[in-house]
Amino acid sequence: MNLIADLHCHTIFSKHAYNTLRDNLNVAVKRNFKAIAVTDHGIGMPDSPTLSYFENLTSLPRYVESICLLRGVEANIMDNEGRLDMPERVMESLDLVIASFHTTCAKPGTREEHTNAYLNVAKNPHVHIIGHSGTPEFCYDYEEVIPIFKKYNKIVEINAHTFICRQKSVENCRRIALLCKEHRVPVIVNSDAHSEFEVGQWEKALAMLASINFPEELVINSSWGRLKEYLIGIGVKDI
Ligand SMILES: [Zn+2]
Ligand SMILES: [Zn+2]
Repeated sequence: MNLIADLHCHTIFSKHAYNTLRDNLNVAVKRNFKAIAVTDHGIGMPDSPTLSYFENLTSLPRYVESICLLRGVEANIMDNEGRLDMPERVMESLDLVIASFHTTCAKPGTREEHTNAYLNVAKNPHVHIIGHSGTPEFCYDYEEVIPIFKKYNKIVEINAHTFICRQKSVENCRRIALLCKEHRVPVIVNSDAHSEFEVGQWEKALAMLASINFPEELVINSSWGRLKEYLIGIGVKDI
C-alpha cells in the first residue's frame, strides 16, 4: 500500500520535537506526498505551543509547492469525561483535530472510565481523528466504542510511532484494526513524527495492516481522491 499524506506531524513548537514545519514539508516534497499536516500538542501538555500559535495557524498557506498543508492540533483528552484542552472556537478555526490521551495530561483510570471518555470524544463534533488509542494505560472497550467512532464519522488512527516507542500498544493496535475491518471503520496511518526523519515512516504499521488483510479502501490516506473528498466533507477550504 502506498500512502500519499502524513496527517500527524510535530514541529519544534512542541518542545520535545526536533524539526521545523519547513523540514517536514521538504520530506513531503521529496516523497511526492499530496498532503501533510502540522499537528502540535494542545495547550494542556506542559511543553506545548501557546494558544496564539494555534490561533495564528491560518497565516500558513493552503499549498506549499505541490503539497496541501493542513493546520491541525493533537488535542489532549484531559479526563475521563473526554474533555479536551483546546477552546472550541480555536478547534473550529483549524482544519484537523486529532484527540489523544497522554499520561502527561490525564491520569489513567479504569477501562470503564476510558470507555466513557472515548464515547464522549466520539460525540465531539470538533474531533476528526482518534489518535493512537491503543495506549495500554488508557485501554477501553474496543468492541463497544469502535462502531461508535464510525457512527460519529471519526477516523481511527493507526499510529506508526507506536511501533517504535509504544511497543506495548502494538497488540492493541492490531485488535483495533481488526475491529475497524469488521465494522468498516475508516482508518488513517500516520507517522506521529517528532523529527523530519520520522515523517512518512510507517512501514511497520503497514506490515501489521497487511498481516490482517486490511482493506485498502478503508485507509483514508492511501488515495488523494479519497482523502480530498474526506477533507472537503469536513469543511477544509481551498483544496
Ligand atoms: Zn500523541
Ligand atoms: Zn503526536
